[in-house]
Formats: sequence, C-alpha cells, structure tokens
Amino acid sequence: MRKPSHTDSNSPSLGGGRGEAIIAIDLGGTFIKIGLLKNGELIDRKEIPAQAASGLKSQLPELEMVIDQILKSNQVQKETVRGIGFSFAGLVDPVANRILSTNQKYEDGPETDLVGWAHEKWNWPLFAMNDARMALLGEWQHGAGQGCSDLVMVTLGTGIGSAVLIGGQLLIGKHFQAGNLGGHFVVNHKGSVCTCGNIGCVEAEASTWRLPALLKEHPEFPGSSMKNEEFPDFKALFHHAGNNDQVAREVLDHCLSAWAAGIITMIHAFDPEIIILSGGIMKSSAIILPALQEKVNQLAWTPWGKVKLVEAKFPDSAALYGADYLVRSSIIK
Ligand SMILES: [Zn+2]
Repeated sequence: MRKPSHTDSNSPSLGGGRGEAIIAIDLGGTFIKIGLLKNGELIDRKEIPAQAASGLKSQLPELEMVIDQILKSNQVQKETVRGIGFSFAGLVDPVANRILSTNQKYEDGPETDLVGWAHEKWNWPLFAMNDARMALLGEWQHGAGQGCSDLVMVTLGTGIGSAVLIGGQLLIGKHFQAGNLGGHFVVNHKGSVCTCGNIGCVEAEASTWRLPALLKEHPEFPGSSMKNEEFPDFKALFHHAGNNDQVAREVLDHCLSAWAAGIITMIHAFDPEIIILSGGIMKSSAIILPALQEKVNQLAWTPWGKVKLVEAKFPDSAALYGADYLVRSSIIK
C-alpha cells in the first residue's frame, strides 16, 4: 500500500512500539461499528444506529462517548492507543485522510476535519479509507484473501462497492478512486439512470435500491407473489424465486447476469487471483456463488485458468480488521 504522508497532528508521540491498541470505526449508512483491537485481535465492539441524514459532525459526540466507554470497560489507557482507522462509505483521500465525496449520506463529510478531531480529543493519529478498501485489507490479512497478492473485493448490498489489490498494493489512482467504482461499471449502455448520473451501471441494474423498481417494471408483476411483499428485498426475491414465481425468477436471472457482467469486467480490468464477495445480498450465497462462478467460467477471458469466487470470511467485521492493519502499517515505517 502507498504509505500515507502525515500532517504534524498526525505525527504521533505514539509510535515507537509502545502502544498496542487500535480503535476501528466503520461508518455505514445504517449502523456505525466501533471496535477495539489488540495485537490484531478484535477484543470488543459496539454498534450504534447511524444518523447519516443529519451529517457526520453531529454524530461525533456520540462516537466520542462510545470510544471512551470501550476504553474504560476494557481498562485501556488512551496513551496506549496507537490511533484510529476510519472506514467510510464514500470516496476518501487516504493520503490527507479526508472524505472527498459522499452519495446521499453524511453530506458534511468533505468539510469534517477527522484528523483534527482525533488529535484534539485523544491526541491520536487518524487514518481514513473507503470502506470497500478497508474490508479488502481485513480479508487480505485475516480472511478469504490470505496468501493472495492480487484480488478484487465486491460488496453486493444497498449499492455495490469494490476495491482492488494488485501485486500486494492497494489500487488507489490519481484521484483516489481507482478500483472503487466497480458498482458503476456500465453493463447496459441503454439501461437505467444511476444515482451517480451515469447510465446502466451494475448497481442501477441490480442492487437493493434498484430492486423495487425492477420488479414493478416487469409486465407480469401484478400477477406475481412478490406483489404482496411489504419489503421487496433480495431475501424475498430469493424466497419467491425458490417457489417458482416466474417474475421473481426472471428478475433474479437479470440481477445475476448484471453482477456477472460487472465481475467479468473487473476480472478483465484487474487480473485478480480471486474475487471475494461480501455484503447483505450474500446472505443468499448458496444460490449466488455457484450461479456467478458458472457465468465467470463460461465468459471471462482468462487462458491461465479460472478466477475463483469466494465468500468473505468476516462479512461483518472485515473493515475493523482492515482499520487495524491500516493504522499499524501507516505508523510502523
Ligand atoms: Zn452509477
């Protein structure tokens, strides 16, 4: 990984191997996870509801309170904490450790000085990164990506996130967005308008936010058993497709094709050894994994062999492990 350079407030008196604890924060759209790690092990974690619509700054006092509580209940002195790894669901500059751009969540993120916040409150350095990259780091170090030098991680959920490791280095790019926009690869140039403004992105064709409209657009929807679902999510879709509802089956096939097209494009672009799949939709991995693997085997141009699709080992905490690795690798030169 490219080593982040540090501002003065990020040049800690905490280096030199004295401290051993790390605080990890994973700021999602629905929940915020806060973890305490010691020597790479997650020894405590708390989850609080996110108030993404009210902004990031207004959430910081509650975060401070939870972090102080975790320190107290685990009898950890703040002087022994090496820093915070901060994971964010948006574009992040991992050199300046600033949020660059958000998508309808925490709109004040880009104007929030996270490094200054952590320095003033605890005198800790803070290292920020996009959440898909952070989860990739966690899976690479501790999970499904162990032993690999080249991998792609894809999260299938409300939206679709991605991150890329090539030759043991995170792909970052000139403007810090390389490898992050796999969910916005075009798989249907005559398709639907995406939240990003583009047309026919993978997530505009098949994601949790798009699913209700996908169903309603199906001409046979009025006769579908999906019509009575209060929450027409993927869990319901897999259930009704399993019961042979024709609309559910066709919409599911459409989604699997869109995800496969996105993944094959990522294989052609980034040449990984494996693809790690995570995210809420992967709760139905028993159906998704074999279906996608079959399409990848058939359609991807990889004369050296087949790219294996694997399930994340820590779907719920990979970003916390990744945050631990990020802080350690950033401080220890
Ligand atoms: Zn898009």
